Amino acid sequence: MAESVSDAALVERFPWVQIDHDNKHLFRGWLDRRLLIQRCQDCGRFQHPPKPICPACWSSRIEPTPVSGRGVVHLAMFLRQGAPAPGVDYEKGPHPVVTVELEEQPGLRFTSTVVDAPLADIRIGLPVELAWIDRYGAPFPAFRPRAGER
Ligand SMILES: [Zn+2]
Repeated sequence: MAESVSDAALVERFPWVQIDHDNKHLFRGWLDRRLLIQRCQDCGRFQHPPKPICPACWSSRIEPTPVSGRGVVHLAMFLRQGAPAPGVDYEKGPHPVVTVELEEQPGLRFTSTVVDAPLADIRIGLPVELAWIDRYGAPFPAFRPRAGER
């Protein structure tokens, strides 16, 4: 895979993340607004969070692979306090955090926030798609309800 930015530049763009050999492709993808999930080249299984080997077949032939970003809310939480983050103001109301089961594979889940949705609409089973927001000056993958499927 062509690398759009060097490892050093990547660390500079995500100072709030511990970048390592296993997760660097994930964050490099964010800079291109692409959600890259590790996929085993031997058994085809996706895995997240990034790990050096496939948990199903122990292969180390792992490739960062673009996924659609479409899925269904598996778990929804509403934080009333927490670590500071850009665009998060607990004084204005709870901050939604969802774990989304991605459509590529049962059990493949990615956790982020939800935008463009009233809190009352955010519930388990809600169909969502990717919505890139800005965090600390870099793209950050969030979710929003899919149009026409609320
Ligand atoms: Zn495998």
